[in-house]
Amino acid sequence: MSPANEKAGKSDVKDARSGVRQPLANLECDVLVAGAGSAGLSAAHAFAAQGRKVVIVGKVETHLAGRTVALFEGSLRFYRALGLWTRLAEHSAPMEGIQMIDDTGSIFPSAPKEFRSREIDLDAFGENIENNALVAELAAAARENPSITLVEDLIDLFDLNFSGARARLASGGWIDAKFIVAGEGRNSQARQIAGITVTTWSYPQVALTVLLAHEKPHHQISTEFHKRSGPFTFVPLRGREGAPYRSSLVWLVSPREALRLQALPPDMLAAEIEDEAHGLLGAIRLDGPVGAFPMGAMKTDRVTGTRMALIGESAHLFPPIGAQGLNLSLRDIANLVDCLEGVNLDEPDEISRGLERYERQRARDIGLRVRGIDILNRSLLIHALPVDFARAFALNFFSAIGPLRRALMREGVTPHGPTPKLMRARPPVSRASAPGA
Ligand SMILES: Cc1cc2nc3c(=O)[nH]c(=O)nc-3n(C[C@H](O)[C@H](O)[C@H](O)COP(=O)(O)OP(=O)(O)OC[C@H]3O[C@@H](n4cnc5c(N)ncnc54)[C@H](O)[C@@H]3O)c2cc1C
Repeated sequence: MSPANEKAGKSDVKDARSGVRQPLANLECDVLVAGAGSAGLSAAHAFAAQGRKVVIVGKVETHLAGRTVALFEGSLRFYRALGLWTRLAEHSAPMEGIQMIDDTGSIFPSAPKEFRSREIDLDAFGENIENNALVAELAAAARENPSITLVEDLIDLFDLNFSGARARLASGGWIDAKFIVAGEGRNSQARQIAGITVTTWSYPQVALTVLLAHEKPHHQISTEFHKRSGPFTFVPLRGREGAPYRSSLVWLVSPREALRLQALPPDMLAAEIEDEAHGLLGAIRLDGPVGAFPMGAMKTDRVTGTRMALIGESAHLFPPIGAQGLNLSLRDIANLVDCLEGVNLDEPDEISRGLERYERQRARDIGLRVRGIDILNRSLLIHALPVDFARAFALNFFSAIGPLRRALMREGVTPHGPTPKLMRARPPVSRASAPGA
């Protein structure tokens, strides 16, 4: 069935310049991005910068309770290279240090550890930004970009063929594409249609998330308490009028405990958080609603299909330990862009070769994060002396030996292996001359 023969769909799209709504019938593009979350929107910008005509389909959701993302140096370079960082920086706060405190009550506790970004010659390990602000800014920039058409709808069917790909909108109409980037998150339909096998598992944990205003400064240091239920992590946030010191909290607890904590009035929950933090940040008050996210993990047997590649949570899922999720997703995107550089998307063989490269390049990075975080998380959940001893020993060992310590920090911030072009260091640009400034 030729898409050109399809009847006009019910969906329409607003032309960025004229503001006139136009029917979507016969909309065509080089790259169709499915899903307008942080990964999908970032991918749309990256492919537009490569000179591709991009359509992105998804509802822009900016009401995620209490969620922030810590973006490390490679991710900051990615957004700087795309001319997006200036607008994101207005919402972010730097993380100059990471403190880890063993609060498991184990008889083999490791001493508190503090890592400073200057040890690896960086001003900061990265920047922490509210998820909603990130998505809103990326969506606003997409609407302003003439190479990107943002369609606020859902896709209900994908058609992936050697000769071309297309997607049907839930409200009617088809979009023809030469290539599809599947960024619709953990339940990706494109992944299912491509026949990609997934292995999923869950943890007896829920991540409670909330933004906090507090009495004492955080000194740009993120503090991770390792508790029996999982990590309890404060990450610095940008202050605002009336709340100069702010942090986000991610607290992994059992599902039953999550229900109890969510039912507490805000001042009582704040008091429990103060107790768990041993007074680190002084008096605490909640600065927004509390979110609750059941913890699970997922890996896939491959990350590509016919004229299609997975990115972000369509490709991998794990608990928020070490702030790796979106950072890994941006590496997916930067790698994919490199793998398709110079590829004529009208030539299926060229696409296949590009996707073989993507498959090879992502396997190790994704595998390492999914497995590493699984081991670390389980080591907290298992109450067994040998496991406590091994965890404390590993942390002490890595943090005591200078080169290992620095290698560990670098691996978290800019992982080794070939660095994709969008994440390579560039000479600093002044705000005034930065693209998109
Ligand atoms: C508590 C918590 C803390 C975290 N902290 C960090 C951190 O500090 N640093 C970090 O790097 N990562 C962090 N992460 C991970 C990070 O938030 C996620 O990796 C990231 O938000 C996932 O983005 P995504 O775009 O892949 O998926 P999603 O955000 O799930 O986006 C997918 C989008 O696709 C849409 N969609 C679904 N189906 C369709 C369809 N059929 N058609 C169109 N659209 C569709 C969905 O509505 C959604 O908008 C954290 C995660 C959690 C849970």
